[in-house]
Amino acid sequence: MTFSTFRFELGADGVALVTLDVPGSSTNVIGDALRADLDRLIEQVRDDAAVKGVVITSAKSDFMAGGDLKAMVQLFAQPHTPDEAFAIASQFSPLLRRIETSGKPWAAAINGPAMGGGLELALACHFRVAADSPNVALALPEATLALMPGAGGTQRLPRLIGIAKALPLMLKGTRLSAHEALEIGLVQSIAAPDRIVSVARSWILERGDPVQPWDKKGFVIPGGGSAYNTTELGQLYNLTATQISRDMGHNQPAPIALLNAVARGTAVPIDAGLHIEACNFAKLVLSPVARNTVRTLFLHKGEIDKLVRRPKGIPAASYNRIGVIGAGLMGAGLAHSAAAAGIEVVLIDATPAQAEAAKVRLSQDFAKRIAKGRMAQDKAEALLARIHPAGDYAALKDCKLVIEAVFEDVAVKREVFRKAAEYMPPGAILASNTSTLPISELAGELPHPDRFIGLHFFSPVDRMPLVEVIVGKGTSEATLAESLDLVKALRKTPIVVNDSRGFFTSRVISAYIQEAFAMVGEGLAPALIDNAAKMAGFPVGPLAMMDDIGMDNGYKAALTERDALGSAWKPSAGFAVQEMLCKTLDRRGRRHGAGFYDYENDRRKPWAGLADVYPPKGGEHDVDELKQRLLFIEALEAARCMEEGVITHPAEGDVGSVLGIGFPSFTGGVFSLIDTIGTRAFVAACDRLAQRHGERYRPSAWLRERAERNELFFPASMAA
Ligand code: NAD
Repeated sequence: MTFSTFRFELGADGVALVTLDVPGSSTNVIGDALRADLDRLIEQVRDDAAVKGVVITSAKSDFMAGGDLKAMVQLFAQPHTPDEAFAIASQFSPLLRRIETSGKPWAAAINGPAMGGGLELALACHFRVAADSPNVALALPEATLALMPGAGGTQRLPRLIGIAKALPLMLKGTRLSAHEALEIGLVQSIAAPDRIVSVARSWILERGDPVQPWDKKGFVIPGGGSAYNTTELGQLYNLTATQISRDMGHNQPAPIALLNAVARGTAVPIDAGLHIEACNFAKLVLSPVARNTVRTLFLHKGEIDKLVRRPKGIPAASYNRIGVIGAGLMGAGLAHSAAAAGIEVVLIDATPAQAEAAKVRLSQDFAKRIAKGRMAQDKAEALLARIHPAGDYAALKDCKLVIEAVFEDVAVKREVFRKAAEYMPPGAILASNTSTLPISELAGELPHPDRFIGLHFFSPVDRMPLVEVIVGKGTSEATLAESLDLVKALRKTPIVVNDSRGFFTSRVISAYIQEAFAMVGEGLAPALIDNAAKMAGFPVGPLAMMDDIGMDNGYKAALTERDALGSAWKPSAGFAVQEMLCKTLDRRGRRHGAGFYDYENDRRKPWAGLADVYPPKGGEHDVDELKQRLLFIEALEAARCMEEGVITHPAEGDVGSVLGIGFPSFTGGVFSLIDTIGTRAFVAACDRLAQRHGERYRPSAWLRERAERNELFFPASMAA
């Protein structure tokens, strides 16, 4: 028997060894070819009396990675009827049911990661042995990508290990090691990597039970299977539903569909349960959330991480030592991230003592992490050993790249550049971490503007995955390419943007914050505004966030912009409120004990005095409109960035907005949001908002023309 996606070898003992090896891919992904091969295999195994049982393993380093997400995005991008969606949801699952009811024993010899559909295949086998290797990981991670297991995972895992254990594993997409999988009963055995096939083979020959526990008479799910009979289960479902609502604000259909499949599907026999699972999966096929999330967070992020935008033909740069000037919040974070990537860091501040103090603060932070079990002592020591506080710019002499992270002040930055340029080796790259100042202007009198670039990291640097790479007028292609190499070495995701005041992310998030300020000016309560933002899917409300960050920097940036632009400056929508809070009322945020909210013992509570400054707007509040305003103002600003060429690829706008500034991930990002609503409908809605709230909502002629053509940022033909 020959197959294109796996090797088939029938041993003299009657055990067939199936070795997965999907061609043209580094991992085993489930596509049409594999499904067709499995279909044929199952028939032949059933009909051939010489085959006693089957062992499935893999020739690649993974057992199986799961579904082909690229194909899935393309498929989900087409409009479907409910029947078509159900057919899509049922592509793989019936095959697995045929495996477990084939009348012959099947065993999975899991040599590496078994993820999603890969684990579902293993679950449909009657026996699972995993290699005792750190390479092995077992997970059903679909929910982390706005999907759910759709090939029996929601039915077999709870029936195997109990609902209370299975549900959180699936909702969180937890990865289990071979030992953890054995402990909870997900695999029956672990063995040395070179012995898993023989262990599986022996099981088939010696025990070889071809009937799954759930197909045996009198089967009961461990811990009980019906919420109607078990109080604990009813409570678990209620609690889980409440947590999902709290965390996702009803914006994510996937966890609800998953919960539904588990709760209803485990209360009935498995065939009915599998049908219920497919019905729930079909709902996700019909919703744009799964497609948008997978496209942005998996496909586009994956391409960006591979540096698709890196100019071609420039040799890769590697860094074993970089310089960081400015050892404040960002500089210390940069030093931490670089050290974590194995890079030595020269850390400079205004005085040697300040640079030393930054390292002390880092070591205190590490000590807290160690105490909480989140960091190992030896790792902390290794990181600190790579950070070298220095008092003298001469220490930069071996640094091929230096990042400046001093105060957001042109004069201070220029002075630092001048001093750094004296000692940096010839050809070294100078990068600025400025969040707003135009890079081309900052380059000013630099001797080598071609080696100058913006590398905008986000706070906290060690945890935020995005870097906005800003190409100035003079920045050379080689500087861009070699800077992207550093971002990759730091294991972060770079988006490449052209120069503009505020670049992409700061511009887009400022529009959102300004809108929230404007709402305060309209007499809306901060708690109402913040809750509307959370309901829209933002991780935190804009006003609570500004109180936490502090209002000073934003206000200062606005004043700097006013000075820089002179008569061309127009106050932003919320500037008056910003000035009122910062200057007139001196309520600059939590650190000062007062902001949009009051703070008592660090607890946030409403500030009654706000009503005297901005009399409350009476009547009913249209929360849906508030949500729409907060989402649309960001999407509109992003569209302006695209129109002006600040962003050149919508994929970068989507990834940047979700990873950098907390734009709700269920939308897929700013441009996916416009596409999902439809450009025409989006423009019409913005016109309505402009009528009610001001010209800042008025779409540009460029966007209007796109709307007339109903042009998408991600046309269905190139959905992935
Ligand atoms: P910070 O105030 O925490 O740190 C600035 C550091 O620069 C201080 O340690 C200060 O002593 C040092 N410094 C000042 N003048 C100096 C000089 N002449 N020579 C050497 N060191 C000097 O500020 P931060 O939040 O770390 O911001 C630094 C830069 O990063 C700014 O340009 C800011 O816009 C940008 N940024 C900040 C954030 C953020 O969330 N804080 C995010 C992205 C980018």
